[in-house]
Amino acid sequence: MNKEKRGRLFERLRAANPAPTTELVYRTPFELLMAVILSAQATDKGVNKATAHLFAVADTPEKMLALGEEGLKAHIRTIGLFNSKAANIIKTCAILVAEHGGQVPRERNALEALPGVGRKTANVVLNTAFGEPTMAVDTHIFRVSNRTGLAPGKTPLAVERGLLRHVPKIFLKDAHHWLILHGRYVCLARKPRCPECPIADLCDYRDKTPPA
Ligand code: SF4
Repeated sequence: MNKEKRGRLFERLRAANPAPTTELVYRTPFELLMAVILSAQATDKGVNKATAHLFAVADTPEKMLALGEEGLKAHIRTIGLFNSKAANIIKTCAILVAEHGGQVPRERNALEALPGVGRKTANVVLNTAFGEPTMAVDTHIFRVSNRTGLAPGKTPLAVERGLLRHVPKIFLKDAHHWLILHGRYVCLARKPRCPECPIADLCDYRDKTPPA
């Protein structure tokens, strides 16, 4: 896909959704970090349901530590992998209190050093809580980037680098939200909704779904 097409693609996604953001509900960087850790292999909807109650009692690392691992589990039992997520969250909160004054750090290395926080989670927090132009490549972005030809790559890291290189600067900060939402609701994994897709004429995918 050439530069001109990439620009037009994002202009269309922006026109459809001028202020995109995550579908996770949060009020602070800490709540976002917790929600993103909980969202691994879970739906945003399921996470929001659990965090609505959890954040009412524990919206800081200190309160999360006071709640304790078992107390936390009681709130997140409906979310997949809740045992390991609870353990990671408690360890992460202990580090936030001991090393970062109870705040979520703004540096990638410090974020990635937290239990349960990988490159993708760090990218989401840096972008969504702190406004950095990072690209958190999840399964949706990986698929959309490859199908459209926007930033083809064999691994999430290769796609991340391709996007950072090729997405026009003015779209960089919001690009990952647009691509996630496009993958989640239009460019579906099994049967992409190509006949209704607003970027179909710009997309390089060869096996587009034909009109019904
Ligand atoms: S045309 Fe189809 S494959 Fe291409 S982005 Fe749209 S939904 Fe995805």
